[in-house]
Amino acid sequence: MSEINKVKVFRVQGTGPTPVTVKISRIGKALRIKCDCPAGAYMDPCEHWKSLFTGEDQNYLDITDDEIREIQDWLDDSDLDEALQNLLYFEGHEKNMHENLARQKRALRGRVIDILISDPQL
Ligand SMILES: [Zn+2]
Repeated sequence: MSEINKVKVFRVQGTGPTPVTVKISRIGKALRIKCDCPAGAYMDPCEHWKSLFTGEDQNYLDITDDEIREIQDWLDDSDLDEALQNLLYFEGHEKNMHENLARQKRALRGRVIDILISDPQL
């Protein structure tokens, strides 16, 4: 049985003036990802590479769609699979929670104004 042993390096044009560089390697079951953006310097998972797995838009400079699909396959059965899937799951829930919270605040704000206007004591 042959072990996966691969490395890809590509750049991403983010919001800054110069592109960031992402390096992803899969050696055996070990998937390792490094980005040279400020978040990556603190070893934080950043959007520059998480987008590979979420499908969110990203301005990749030198990587093909085929290579992206290949990298997505590297996640399967790697030592990052469960942790990354959990992170993406909770980030999705966090986003939904923020949207629901904003919606509830808007709904409540409308009612608070209604009460203020309709109550002559206030
Ligand atoms: Zn980054």
